[in-house]
Amino acid sequence: MRKNIVAGNWKMNTTLEEGVELANAVNSLLEDHKANCEVIVCVPFTHLTSVHAVLNPELVKLGAEDCSAHDKGAYTGEVSAAMVKSTGAEYVILGHSERRQYFGEGNELLLAKTKLALENGLKPIFCVGEVLEQREDGSYNDVVKGQVEALFSLSAEDFSKIVIAYEPVWAIGTGKTATADQAQDMHAHIRKVVEEKYGKEIADNCSILYGGSCKPANAPEIFGKPDVDGGLIGGAALKADSFMGIIEAFD
Ligand code: PEP
Repeated sequence: MRKNIVAGNWKMNTTLEEGVELANAVNSLLEDHKANCEVIVCVPFTHLTSVHAVLNPELVKLGAEDCSAHDKGAYTGEVSAAMVKSTGAEYVILGHSERRQYFGEGNELLLAKTKLALENGLKPIFCVGEVLEQREDGSYNDVVKGQVEALFSLSAEDFSKIVIAYEPVWAIGTGKTATADQAQDMHAHIRKVVEEKYGKEIADNCSILYGGSCKPANAPEIFGKPDVDGGLIGGAALKADSFMGIIEAFD
């Protein structure tokens, strides 16, 4: 059966020293209280190696927040999937709405990144989600379907390695959360879209995370929905206690 997952997305926060301190704090809370789900911290590129050194891989997995759409070569400033993998990371967030919105990342580029991540043995956490206007004009199911379908040239074997994160853009960092029912409806929709392409077994085994102003107070209700398999957590992942409070939603 599919895994429950709580993944933190630190975004462009913490210096290296602060990041190592946060990773240590998360790790020691989990040593005292083992999680009932997979826990991942997705950290800035600059922190990957040092954070990897302090995490117990039995308790917390490591991820990056992005990787390049290019394999290697003359792309100054880019970080390849192979480089990410070589730090000990297992996961990589791709298609976060901030990448789509501020860096113009679209379906074709994200498919290229996803393929390279998979070829290099990374598991993509592939983000999808509508903006407020699309929620309000009722096109949100089609928008998200299109974002998921961007991956449908992948083989079934490759697709089965992907974690999907549904993150309504209007709920990210805004303090405004989708209701548990809105999350459930969209997650069930995504699972159906996956089922129509790859079949019931792959759809049933696909972990679909919710993201958008998730907190210890609202996580139990959202994660309690049958098609919600955990969360991708931004702001609340920057404090070990609040991140732990969300992980405990699975206790
Ligand atoms: C995110 O950026 O993936 C996210 C869900 O952020 P926040 O939890 O801060 O809304």
